[in-house]
Amino acid sequence: MSEVYDVIVIGSGPAGYPAAIRAGQNKLKVACIDEWKNTDGSFAFGGTCLNAGCIPSKALLESSELYQRAKDEFAVHGIKIGALELDLAAMQKRRASVVKVMSGGVAALFKANGVTGIQGHGRLLPGNRVLVTGPDGAEKTLEAKHVVLASGSVPVRLKNVPHDGKYIVDSWNALEFDSIPARLGVIGAGVIGLELGSVWRRLGSEVTVLEALPQFLPMTDGAIAKEAQRHFKKQGLDIKLGAKVSAATVAGGAVDVVYTDAQGEHTLTVDKLVVAVGRRPFTEGLLAEGTGVRLDERGFIEVDEHCRTGVPNVWAIGDVVRGPMLAHKGKEEGVMVADLIAGQFGEVNYKVIPSVIYTAPEIAWVGQTEEQVKAGGRPYKVGTFPFSASGRARAMEAAQGFAKVVSAKDDDEVLGVHVIGPMAGELIAEAVLAMEYSASTEDIQRTIHAHPTLSEAIHEAALAVDKKAIDGINR
Ligand code: FAD
Ligand code: AMP
Repeated sequence: MSEVYDVIVIGSGPAGYPAAIRAGQNKLKVACIDEWKNTDGSFAFGGTCLNAGCIPSKALLESSELYQRAKDEFAVHGIKIGALELDLAAMQKRRASVVKVMSGGVAALFKANGVTGIQGHGRLLPGNRVLVTGPDGAEKTLEAKHVVLASGSVPVRLKNVPHDGKYIVDSWNALEFDSIPARLGVIGAGVIGLELGSVWRRLGSEVTVLEALPQFLPMTDGAIAKEAQRHFKKQGLDIKLGAKVSAATVAGGAVDVVYTDAQGEHTLTVDKLVVAVGRRPFTEGLLAEGTGVRLDERGFIEVDEHCRTGVPNVWAIGDVVRGPMLAHKGKEEGVMVADLIAGQFGEVNYKVIPSVIYTAPEIAWVGQTEEQVKAGGRPYKVGTFPFSASGRARAMEAAQGFAKVVSAKDDDEVLGVHVIGPMAGELIAEAVLAMEYSASTEDIQRTIHAHPTLSEAIHEAALAVDKKAIDGINR
C-alpha cells in the first residue's frame, strides 16, 4: 500500500518549504520532496535561493563590500590597516558555511513542524499520486489529498553561447569561482548580472556588462535608474547598453564574445563570461501524461490568483508560476496555499511586493514608479530626500542616493516608494507595511522616526511630497 499524506510538496525552495511548514503547523500530514544536488554532490533542502541564489550571493556581496570599504574608505575614518590582503579561499569557505547553516535550518524546521523531508525526484501522476525516485533509483508511489508543485526555475541559456561551467558560466558557477578573473564579461544588466558584476568588480576584476536593451533597469523608477547608473560607472562597472550578444567562443583559455550595438559588430575578450539573461520555469520530469496540469506558452504552470492549477487539489507556487521570480513572493504563495488547503483564509497582495537590488548603493522599491503612475493618468505628487542630508548616512560615510515617495494628488494614498542608498532593502519594509495598510503620505508624515536613522529619509521624502520637509530643501 502506498503512503498517504494530506499534502505533498514537490520542491523545497523558498516557495515549497514554507508551504510544507505551514501545512505542518495546520496539523496536516505533509511531505516535501526535493532532488537538489550541490556542486560537491551533496544533497540540501532550500532550493535555488538558499544554495545557489539569494543567500550565497548576499554572503559574497557582504564580504566583497567589506573588502572594498577597507581598501577605499577605512582611511577616511582614520583607520590605518597597512597592506590589505584578500583571501578568496576563506571568503568562499564562509559563503559555503553560511549556505550550509541555512539549508540545515530548513531540515530542522521540517522536523520541528512534523514535515517529512524526502530526498528524490517527484513526478505528479494522474489522480493526485506522486512517483518518487530516490537517489539510488528506487521508486515509490505516494498519495496525497493535495499536491503543491514548487519546482522553481533554472537559468536561461543563450543559443551560440555554449555553457561549459568553466569559461562560459551561469550565476551559480559565478558564485563559486576559486580565483578572481582579470577580465569578466556579464551578459544581462538585470538584478543578478549587476549583483555578480559588483562582487567581482570589488574584488578586482575588470567587469564589462553587455545589455541588449537601450534603457538601464527599465523596471525601476527612472530617477533611481539614472542615479544607479552614475554610481556603477564610478565604481568601474563598464555597462554597455543596446549591446546584444550573438555568440561566444572559448579559445586559448579566454572567451571571445560577439555583440552588436548601434555602431556595428564588436568582439570582447574576457577570461570568464557569466550569462545572466534571466531564468525560466523548471518542469522537466515533473508532470506525467494525463495529469491535466497546463503550461502557458512561456512554460509557466497556469494558475489562478490563489495558485490553483485547475486540476482539483493540485496547486503551483513560486518561480514556476507567473509573477516576479522572487523568494518572498514564492513564500507568501506557499503560506497562502497551505492555509487555503486547511480551510483557512489565504491571500497574496500581488500589488505590494518589494524588490531589492543588493548593490552599493542598494536599490529597493515597492508599488508603482513615477513613470507608471504618470502613464496611468492619475494626478500625483512626488517628494524626495537625499541621503547627503541624513546625519546617520553621513556618519556611516554612505551618504549616496535618495528616497522618493509618489502619492496620489486626490486622496494622498502612497502609490510607490523608491530608495537608492544605504540599507535600502531594509528601509523599504516600512513602505511595504504602509502600502499594505493603504496608508496616506500624511500617515507616514505623522509617524515618529527615530533620530538619527536612515529611516528618516523616508519620513522626510513623505514630508517633501507636500513641501513640508524639515531637513531638506523643498522643491
Ligand atoms: P527554487 O528555489 O528554484 O526551488 C525549487 C526546488 O525544487 C529545487 O530545490 C529543485 O531541486 C526542486 N525540484 C524541482 N523539480 C523537482 C522534482 N521534480 N522533484 C523534486 N525536486 C524538484 N530572490 C529574492 O527574492 N532575493 C534575492 O536576493 C535573490 N537573489 C538571487 C540571486 C541569484 C544568483 C539567483 C539565481 C536567484 C536569486 N533570487 C532572489 C531568486 C530566488 O532564488 C527565486 O525566486 C527562488 O529561489 C524561487 O523559489 P522556488 O521555491 O519557486 O524555486
Ligand atoms: P533579468 O531578466 O532581470 O535577470 O535580466 C536579464 C537581462 O538580460 C535583461 O535585461 C535582458 O535584456 C538581457 N539580455 C537577454 N538576452 C541578451 C543578449 N543576447 N545580449 C545582451 N543582453 C541580453
